[in-house]
Amino acid sequence: MKKITKLIGSSLVLIGIVFSATPGAFAAKSNDSTGNVTPQWGVSVHGTGFVKGTYNWAIARQFNEANAQSIAAADVATDTSLYTGGYPLSHDEYHFNMNSSSLSAVGTSSDSRVQKSSEYFSLAVNKYNKANTDYANVVAYINQTYPSGASKDAALQTARNDRATARLKALNDLGTALHAWQDVFAHGNVQTMTQHNSYKAPEDPSTSIIDDPNYDINWSTGTVTKPGYEFGSRYNATKSKTISMLDLFKSSVGYNPND
Ligand SMILES: [Zn+2]
Repeated sequence: MKKITKLIGSSLVLIGIVFSATPGAFAAKSNDSTGNVTPQWGVSVHGTGFVKGTYNWAIARQFNEANAQSIAAADVATDTSLYTGGYPLSHDEYHFNMNSSSLSAVGTSSDSRVQKSSEYFSLAVNKYNKANTDYANVVAYINQTYPSGASKDAALQTARNDRATARLKALNDLGTALHAWQDVFAHGNVQTMTQHNSYKAPEDPSTSIIDDPNYDINWSTGTVTKPGYEFGSRYNATKSKTISMLDLFKSSVGYNPND
C-alpha cells in the first residue's frame, strides 16, 4: 500500500477540481515550421518537444530556467526510465490506470496514475524541504566552526552544491508526478498498447493519435475529433493540472527561483 502523508490530502483536493474543470482558453500554437506537431504526448506535452508544455508552464509559474529544464526532462524520461517506463518495461501503472478499466475511475484517487502522482509529489516536497533544512544546518555549523577564509568559503560552496544535488532529486520526482497525471488526460481508461494504438486520425486511419495533443477523444464512444488550430480539451486540462501541481509544489517548499 502507499504511504500516506499529509501532502497527499492536498494533492487529492486538486484532482477533483482540475479533472472536472472546463478547459480555459489557451492560445497554444500547435504548428511547427512544417505545420505539424510531433505526434507524441511525450515530446509535445511532457516537456521538451516543439511545444515544450511542461517546460513552458514551469517558466510561466516562475521556476528558474535550470529547474524548468530539470522538471521537464524528468517528466519526459518517465516514459523510458527502467523504474517508471511503461510497456515493455512493466510499469504501466504510471501511464495507464491499471487498477480499473472503468471510465468513472479515470482521474480519481483509485486511478493508479493518480496514486503514483501523489506518491511522487510527496517525495518531491519532502526531499526539497529536507535539502533546505540540511543546508541550513550545515551552514550554521560552518559559521560556528570555521574562521573566515578560503576553507570556510570552500565548505560553504560544497554545502550549496550538495543542496543543488538534493534538490535535483526532488525535481526529478516532481517530473514523474507530473507525468503520471498528464497521462490521465493522454490515455483516459486505455489499459493496453493495443487499445492505445487503436485511436486513429479520422482523416488518416493509419495514424495513431492518442499521444497527439491536436486531437480530442471521447473515451466513452471512442470518437476522435480535431478541434482545429488550437489544441483541444485534453491538452488544456493537462495544462491546468500541471500548473496547479507546480503551484502546490512551490507553496509546499517555499520555492525561491533565485536561491
Ligand atoms: Zn507516459
